[in-house]
Amino acid sequence: MKSATLVGSGMEYPIGKILCIGRNYADHIRELGNEPPEAPVIFMKPASSVIGDGGTIVIPSYSKDCHHEAELAILIGKEGRDIPREQALEHIAGYGVAIDLTLRDVQAELKKKGLPWDIAKGFDTACPLSGFVPPAQVSDPQDLQIRLTVNDETRQDGSTSLMIHTVRDIISHMSGIFTLEPGDVILTGTPAGVSAIISGDRLVAEIPGVARLHVSVR
Ligand code: ZN
Repeated sequence: MKSATLVGSGMEYPIGKILCIGRNYADHIRELGNEPPEAPVIFMKPASSVIGDGGTIVIPSYSKDCHHEAELAILIGKEGRDIPREQALEHIAGYGVAIDLTLRDVQAELKKKGLPWDIAKGFDTACPLSGFVPPAQVSDPQDLQIRLTVNDETRQDGSTSLMIHTVRDIISHMSGIFTLEPGDVILTGTPAGVSAIISGDRLVAEIPGVARLHVSVR
């Protein structure tokens, strides 16, 4: 079983659902040529897709185009259903950084056919995930910088202030569909700059003051 670590306390949460929001930054919607969605686009990754700091990404043989998406990750610490926006932040146990790995070629083919994205987003190693810091260390989740480098070259550098749906909105909305439980993780969408990774690449995803995550591609 995969677990999420709360840095400092050493507390471990067995990971439950990993709920992800797509198309949450206008600049990233433009770079993929997508339409801005009316309601948030939600998908899931299985807990088995998680790898930790220092882990190795294995790109499945059925893809030739694996993209990185660096994202603010939220660890849920308190159960809730139909959580009002005003109380949303009370359900957070920690903040971290994740990479939502996406097989863009496979996803494009599935989208065209109207089929679910699971095999493009949920394969083993598709969710590199850092440790989490307690909310007391994050004064404003909508004022964080998300950076990702590949082989020391900056590919993504965006602010969470550019999210279309804020952390409060996402928790409130998702909890109207899925009961949120301790150990659930939410990935909040990626800013612009997604690009392909290949064998031998070294990735560092970072939210300064919150988390840093190193992974490499086999
Ligand atoms: Zn994503």
